[in-house]
Amino acid sequence: GGSIEIYNRIKELISEKGLLTEIELEEEKPGIGIKKSGCHGFCEMGPLIRIEPYNYLYLKVKIEDCEEIVETTLIKGQPVARLMYNWQNKVYETQEEIPFYKKQTRLVLGNCGHIDAESIREYIANDGYKALGKCILEMEPEQVCKTISDSNLRGRGGGGYPAGRKWAQVVAQSSDIKYVVCNGDEGDPGAFMDRSVMEGDPHRVIEGMIIAGFATKSHQGYIYVRAEYPLAVERLKAAITQARQYGLLGDNILNSGFSFDIKVNQGAGAFVCGEGSALTASIEGERGMPRVKPPRTVEAGLWAKPTVLNNVETFANVPQIIINGSEWYKSIGPEKSPGTKAFAITGNVNNTGLIEVPMGTTLREVLFDIGGGIKNDRRFKAVQIGGPSGGCLTEEHLDLALDFDSLKKVGAMIGSGGLVVMDEDTCMVEVARFFMNFTQNESCGKCVPCREGTKRMLEILEKIVAGKGTVEDLELLEDLADTITETALCGLGKTAASPVISTLKFFRDEYLAHIVDKK
Ligand code: SF4
Repeated sequence: GGSIEIYNRIKELISEKGLLTEIELEEEKPGIGIKKSGCHGFCEMGPLIRIEPYNYLYLKVKIEDCEEIVETTLIKGQPVARLMYNWQNKVYETQEEIPFYKKQTRLVLGNCGHIDAESIREYIANDGYKALGKCILEMEPEQVCKTISDSNLRGRGGGGYPAGRKWAQVVAQSSDIKYVVCNGDEGDPGAFMDRSVMEGDPHRVIEGMIIAGFATKSHQGYIYVRAEYPLAVERLKAAITQARQYGLLGDNILNSGFSFDIKVNQGAGAFVCGEGSALTASIEGERGMPRVKPPRTVEAGLWAKPTVLNNVETFANVPQIIINGSEWYKSIGPEKSPGTKAFAITGNVNNTGLIEVPMGTTLREVLFDIGGGIKNDRRFKAVQIGGPSGGCLTEEHLDLALDFDSLKKVGAMIGSGGLVVMDEDTCMVEVARFFMNFTQNESCGKCVPCREGTKRMLEILEKIVAGKGTVEDLELLEDLADTITETALCGLGKTAASPVISTLKFFRDEYLAHIVDKK
């Protein structure tokens, strides 16, 4: 909080001194410019100010600091050391040196915190829309599809399904109407990766979608954003208008004869609307409920037409793959899960925030090198990965590589990338109850196993937390978990029991402690 006030105060101070200049690309007038950027990711330390050309990053800035920043840094070019990152008595002068950033590989988040998210000119100045130009002017749609397939880009929304394969399946459909849909519904508690990309670099998502439209010969795209993200909605809409003005969206893009446009749809925040068929139903104006599959979305998605449905981060990866090629992309991270992944780290960790690392980075590196370790020197206990559909990872998993396949092997999933860190004082039964309560509230009620099963599981968990559970309750929990997982209609139900299954597996003693305590 307070960033806008700080922005206004600094602007006021430099205006008073007659030094304010608008940062417009063609303006060479000497002076000091100030602009609002998207999220830098270092949430714990906000409000943040980055000062160029020195690359200083000032943390936890207060209104009272503004005068000193203007006098000392903006006018005299000197650093204000007390506002810089200080760790174990070492002051880190530039942003790039700070361990939180140093260990990251920010590809998708590369522009976030650096460019003015409301300026198409800044996006273009940072190679924006170059990939679109390359596709439309130099490549055939089939080549674009093949490049994405060859890169082995896997869907960042949770499932990890290869994006190129999905695109090719849409291409293979005979319908001449096809759609591209971007899932920006991001509903996991503790996850805000997609939000930051939409707010901090909206053109990157739009460019990825137009390229998908070109590759699959579709002409209309939809971005489905939850209404709780008003800034994302506003910036996406502004970016769409700008892209149209620049001839990059709409009819006859870059005079190529290819037309593609995008609409923004706001969801009311139902978690189930992140599920593909519920999401498309919601765009159609129907109640957001999943349907039985097949047919799959690639065959009959939005308005029963073949539909490419990928999430925000997946589309945001596309432009760089087109510019740098599939071999470049495959050289980052493990062969079967290449590229980077954005994670939102929250909970009992020193540096909460938004990070991006190559796939295959270990949990230890993420939590201790980047995350700065556990708060208040407590012991690490577990991390919930993948939100309410995921599971927990414990001390024994600290050296596990975070990628789609290795997580699957230990019964967890990368999900959309939420990491909720828990210390030794956290009650894991309470964690399971929290997530079950969330899922139960969000169950759409269409199928019995999920509608009734999650309710019964929640009741049992509440009973155990209240110290009234029995050993038989644990068996009942396991039985219900198996049944719901096997019989629920959609992903929400199929994964609803995951937090219970994994806490029962790794922290059964804590469940038993609640039961024994009772006696
Ligand atoms: Fe609805 Fe749950 Fe069934 Fe999915 S599994 S259709 S959310 S009731």
